[in-house]
Amino acid sequence: MIYKFCPICGSKLEERNSWDEGKVPYCKRDDKMFFDTPTPCIIAAVIRDDKILLLKQSYIFKNSKVLVSGYVTNGETVEETVRREVKEETGINVGEVKYLGSDYLEANEIIMLTFMAKYESGEIEKSDEVEWLDWTKIEDAICEMPEDEIGKRIVKKVIRHIDYKAY
Ligand SMILES: [Zn+2]
Repeated sequence: MIYKFCPICGSKLEERNSWDEGKVPYCKRDDKMFFDTPTPCIIAAVIRDDKILLLKQSYIFKNSKVLVSGYVTNGETVEETVRREVKEETGINVGEVKYLGSDYLEANEIIMLTFMAKYESGEIEKSDEVEWLDWTKIEDAICEMPEDEIGKRIVKKVIRHIDYKAY
């Protein structure tokens, strides 16, 4: 997002040269530069043996199931975001968290960081923002996610990753 006014004090921003980035909007009062960066968001494929955790949240997709996702909060690492979001939305604790790559969503200026997270403990405990939630066989998951292109790609990545590890 390119700021015109300071989001802290409301002053009109000037431009200031940053060595690497060229001209960057700058607030004199707060002595702060506002870089044109995307919003970081995590998406997590939670795996338990041959099953993956799928959710139904109609505000995201009407006819698709989705993976756990959420915005990175200031002060936490993205791995912590994965653990927090999975716990909050599903009640599950995850162990090993592995980075699988990223996708850029131009429409919302979001950088979606993809993770595979291994089930560690806990039982499913649905949060109010989730309509449905359960373990689904990984090979059946893609059929449950017709609208979710990124989600499907992630499931394919997970399948490749698990196969790779099996040999
Ligand atoms: Zn300011």
